[in-house]
Amino acid sequence: MGIRLEGKPVVQELRAALKERIQALGDRGVTPAILILRVGKREDDISYERGILKGCEALGIKSHVMELPVDISMDELIQKIETANKDPGIHGIMLFRPMPAHLDQGRISKAIDPAKDIDCMSPENLEKVFEGNAAGFAPCTPKAVIEILKGYQIPLKGANIVIAGRSMVVGKPLAMLLLNEDATVTICHSKTKDMPAVTRNADIVVAAIGKARFMNSDFFNPDSIVIDVGINDTGDGKICGDVDYDQVIDKVKAISPAVGGVGSITTTILLSHVVQACENFSDDHTTV
Ligand code: NAP
Repeated sequence: MGIRLEGKPVVQELRAALKERIQALGDRGVTPAILILRVGKREDDISYERGILKGCEALGIKSHVMELPVDISMDELIQKIETANKDPGIHGIMLFRPMPAHLDQGRISKAIDPAKDIDCMSPENLEKVFEGNAAGFAPCTPKAVIEILKGYQIPLKGANIVIAGRSMVVGKPLAMLLLNEDATVTICHSKTKDMPAVTRNADIVVAAIGKARFMNSDFFNPDSIVIDVGINDTGDGKICGDVDYDQVIDKVKAISPAVGGVGSITTTILLSHVVQACENFSDDHTTV
C-alpha cells in the first residue's frame, strides 16, 4: 500500500512558522492585511474566499473583502486596484481567476503592484519565478507542490520529475520552481506521444491536466511518488483528481490525494505571501 501524502501536517508546520512571524510584526505594531477583490459571486471563488478568511482569523491577519458587480467595467476595476496599491493598510491583493470574459486579464495583471501581488498575477513576479529569483511571489499552487514534497523530505535535487500539464497557472511555473531545486524536469501535454511511457520512468509525477481519474496504474511504477493537483467535478457533487486514486494507491510508493493534498496547502501559501509582503513593506518603511 502506497503512503498517503496528506497536506495537513505540512500546513500545521507552515502555520506555526507563520504565527511567529506575525507575532514579530505585531511586536513592531504592524498587522498584515489582505484585500480580496471578488468580481461576481462564483461558487468556487466564494468557497476559496471562505478558506482564506478562516485562515486569516486563525493566524491574526486582517482581511477585507470587496465584492464587485459581475459587469464591472475595466476602468472601474483598474481604479479599485490602483486605490488598493496606494493604501498602506493593505499588504496583499487577491483577485480570483478566471474573471468574466469582458475583462482584460493582461491589463489587470499589469495594474496590480508587484509588491502586493500575492497570487503572482503580474509579469514582474512571473519573471522572477523564471529567473530563479526567490524575492517575488510565486504562484500558490506550484509552490504548494514544492512544500508538500519538501514537507515529506522527498529529495528534489537530481530527481527525474514529470509534470503532466503546461498551463501558466500550474505546469509551467512549477517546472521553473522545480528546476530551481535542481530537479530534472519533463513537461507533458495533450500532444505528448505515449504519456504513460514518459511518466512511468519518473521518480515523481505531478498530475495537473484537469481530467477526472485520467491517470491509472499504467502511468506509474512501484517507486513512483505521485502528486495529484487536479480538482475535477465528478458530476455527483463530489471532487476527484486527475489520478485514479483507488486504483493506483496499491501500486505506487506514495500519492498525495486530490482532496486533502496540495489544495489544502494553497491557502496557507497565499497567507504566507501576505505576511512576506507586510514584512517587506515594514522593512522599507522603518527608519533607523
Ligand atoms: P488547464 O489550463 O486546463 O491546463 C491543462 C493542461 O493539461 C494543458 O497543458 C493541457 O495540454 C494538458 N492536458 C489536457 N488533457 C491532457 C491529456 N489528455 N493528456 C496530457 N495532457 C493533457 O488546467 P490548469 O489550470 O493547469 O489546472 C489543471 C488541474 O489542476 C485542474 O483540474 C484544476 O482544477 C486543478 N487546479 C488545482 C489547484 C489546487 O489548488 N489544487 C489550483 C489550480 C488548478 P495542452 O496545453 O496541450 O492543451
